[in-house]
Amino acid sequence: MKAGNVLVSGAGIAGLSATYWLARRGWRVTVVERAPAPRIGGQAIDVRGSALGVLDRMGMLDRARRAKTAIQGMSMVDADGVELLRDTETTITGGVIDNDDIELMRDDLSGLVTEAIGSSAEFVFGDSVTELAPDDSGVAVTFEHAEPRRFDLVIGADGTHSRVRALAFGQEARFTHALGRHIAIFTTENFLGLEHWQTCLRTDDHLVVMMSVRDDAEARVLLNFKSTSDTPDHRDVQRQKEFLAKHFAGAGWELPRMLDAMWRAPDFYFDEMCQIKMPDGWCAGRIALVGDAAHCASPMSGQGTSLALVGGYVLAGELSTAGDHDAGFGAYQREMASYVAANQALVMDDRGAQAHPEALAKAANAITVKDY
Ligand SMILES: Cc1cc2nc3c(=O)[nH]c(=O)nc-3n(C[C@H](O)[C@H](O)[C@H](O)COP(=O)(O)OP(=O)(O)OC[C@H]3O[C@@H](n4cnc5c(N)ncnc54)[C@H](O)[C@@H]3O)c2cc1C
Repeated sequence: MKAGNVLVSGAGIAGLSATYWLARRGWRVTVVERAPAPRIGGQAIDVRGSALGVLDRMGMLDRARRAKTAIQGMSMVDADGVELLRDTETTITGGVIDNDDIELMRDDLSGLVTEAIGSSAEFVFGDSVTELAPDDSGVAVTFEHAEPRRFDLVIGADGTHSRVRALAFGQEARFTHALGRHIAIFTTENFLGLEHWQTCLRTDDHLVVMMSVRDDAEARVLLNFKSTSDTPDHRDVQRQKEFLAKHFAGAGWELPRMLDAMWRAPDFYFDEMCQIKMPDGWCAGRIALVGDAAHCASPMSGQGTSLALVGGYVLAGELSTAGDHDAGFGAYQREMASYVAANQALVMDDRGAQAHPEALAKAANAITVKDY
């Protein structure tokens, strides 16, 4: 279809991928991001299988490889900090080390794509859509701060708790499938002196990982734990930190120092692990979803970022080669369906164990990305 103007809600990996590809195909793209500036933080994320082909088409494969975490291995410790095992072949965050996958920091990848987009799209930070009113010729959009505007199409790339999905498809509870665990991630000093290494403590209820990042200049802590009835929701950061301080107080190892650092962390991410399933589809009229907003597979799949990168590419490609948005959105959804299903099916275990490497490789390649 003829390129027009499109609103993308959310500047995560899905929104940035969609923006990059739509702008390259001549669309005038406006990105509205709720955060006041590009979001920092997050753990190591993985780009695998078909998603590597998308990075390659973006001309970013080499730069992404140079940004690799280069983690050399992991050790497991007990609550007293005594090392139980060392492994230089696999890590808890990325699986098998020696393969073609690219493990890099989430904000390094979003930085690369943002740089490549450059001035080819308009970015509005610190705002959010409040209403979407689609009609025959476009969508009238109102915002929390900006003046109302009209767009030909609206793309919801605003993550698991998508506002666009709530406005256009219905309340989150209809689509969320909780996996029984929560995750928190934050930056600390590398006070364990880790060298391209991750150290983990695992109990039935908890998984604590500390890994060195940015050439060991700092570290990221990941707290993964079984949800309880009093776990706060994703909105109240003060309560989340208070909850974690209490919940992990008796866990031993270096938890006191980690929890102390949590209060000062410049970035702090906390959310429930869940999957988003939309049996009636994630496109309706002039509005479509991409990435976690449409089909979150959860961090436990290790595939959220790859799905987001591929989704943005396929969405832009199908829209631009179809006769109209109905045909384009329909083709996008059909192309993605079995890839999404294969990756959501990787999550079977509520302890957050990595899927078997063969199953992961199969799911990661469950779509053949076309040349549009
Ligand atoms: C800060 C952060 C850290 C993360 N860390 C990890 C991690 O360590 N490991 C892991 O596996 N996954 C992590 N994730 C999730 C992972 O990035 C995604 O699963 C995956 O990359 C798919 O990306 P997405 O773009 O669909 O969603 P997200 O990465 O969730 O991006 C959604 C974007 O939309 C924005 N947004 C939300 N609501 C609105 C709104 N109403 N209006 C405008 N913008 C809005 C958000 O601020 C965010 O920038 C993290 C996500 C975030 C936001």
